[in-house]
Amino acid sequence: MCKALIIGAGGVGTVVTQKIAANPVFTDVMLASRTKSKCDAVAAAIGGNRVKTAEVDADNVPQLCELFRSFKPDIVVNVALPYQDLTIMDACLECGCNYLDTANYEPKDEAHFEYSWQWAYQDRFKAAGLTAILGCGFDPGVTAIFTAYAAKHHFDEIHYLDIVDCNAGNHGMAFATNFNPEINIREVTQKGRYFENGQWVVTEPHEIHRPLNYPGIGERESYVIYHEELESLVKNYPTIRRARFWMTFGQEYLTHLRVIQNIGMARIDPIIYNGVEIVPIQFLKAVLPDPKSLGANYHGQTSIGCRIKGLKDGKERTYYIYNNCDHEQAFKETGTQAVSFTTGVPAALGASMWAKGLWRGAGVFNVEEFDPDPFLAELGEQGLPWHELFDVNLEV
Ligand code: NDP
Repeated sequence: MCKALIIGAGGVGTVVTQKIAANPVFTDVMLASRTKSKCDAVAAAIGGNRVKTAEVDADNVPQLCELFRSFKPDIVVNVALPYQDLTIMDACLECGCNYLDTANYEPKDEAHFEYSWQWAYQDRFKAAGLTAILGCGFDPGVTAIFTAYAAKHHFDEIHYLDIVDCNAGNHGMAFATNFNPEINIREVTQKGRYFENGQWVVTEPHEIHRPLNYPGIGERESYVIYHEELESLVKNYPTIRRARFWMTFGQEYLTHLRVIQNIGMARIDPIIYNGVEIVPIQFLKAVLPDPKSLGANYHGQTSIGCRIKGLKDGKERTYYIYNNCDHEQAFKETGTQAVSFTTGVPAALGASMWAKGLWRGAGVFNVEEFDPDPFLAELGEQGLPWHELFDVNLEV
């Protein structure tokens, strides 16, 4: 018996709820979010009274605890926003629940994310005998599990790791983000950062770029940006000499982004407008397309993977492990586009790894610390098949 509570009824929450509801290892399922009507719509589409719903403000620990004490979840899957990570972890500790998320904590007033805030919960989760699983989406998530799989089966030492994330889909809009616009714009407008020879190298935003070839897609301009899994991967694989994260952006997207920044709409500090305090980026979110709504007209694929170079049995080898996900296929199955799908499927699968006792432990864990084999054995069946290429030109 395992009771799962999902928090957040956005694009990712929709996929997580569908996948968890379809998995018999979960005996009871609840979806809770700030706006209950959104939870009700997701639950109604699943049908059969399988999913209970509730309203909760996940910034408010006493409210979360009240909900946890009445539903008594074994595991809480946090797919609200990174701002809520710590309050949900606090409530889990107070009520004896296990925890899983897909994005690391960010303070609202500073566009800065790192694991230190959540790693600081290590002793408390350990003492409580509870598991906290951090970063179980696609990136972070599957990218770290791919790296763990490479380290377990194909390398004695990983030296170079390049995570490559291509979205070659077209949604037909001039500008839209694929997941929460506020979080997305904060992430991609930051300075670039990568790890080399034991140090972090900081670049201007989008300063390093080059065309890379993606399987089944072709060449796309790819940009080095900072991404959170780099922090845990270089810690957990100390043989890594260089680790970078590349993401593709179209020129049209970058132009919009530059304008948004130049006119002050990416600002995260409050301003007074007509006597009311507003945060420009939150106002912008309200007028941009909801990522959940993009699916109906989205064509093309995403391709995300790890390009790795290192040593096996004293010989140098290269390795590329990746998944391609088709937007139309994702929409047909779940009514959401591929970015929500590629995030939601691993989150639900990670929760089921915990429910089946395959990923357990007392403390706070990044996903690469668990056995990658049972997770990857099921990932394809859940809709995200993966592929391996050996001794190929990695381009990076
Ligand atoms: P959405 O904005 O579509 O959904 C977020 C949901 O959380 C909304 O339903 C929102 O409620 C709810 N929410 C926000 N604040 C609160 C609160 N205080 N209390 C309760 N509920 C709240 O985002 P996405 O579904 O696109 O993304 C969800 C998460 O997934 C984000 O954290 C994002 O960073 C992460 N992500 C991770 C990826 C990965 O690969 N690891 C990739 C993509 C996303 P309301 O509907 O009322 O606004």
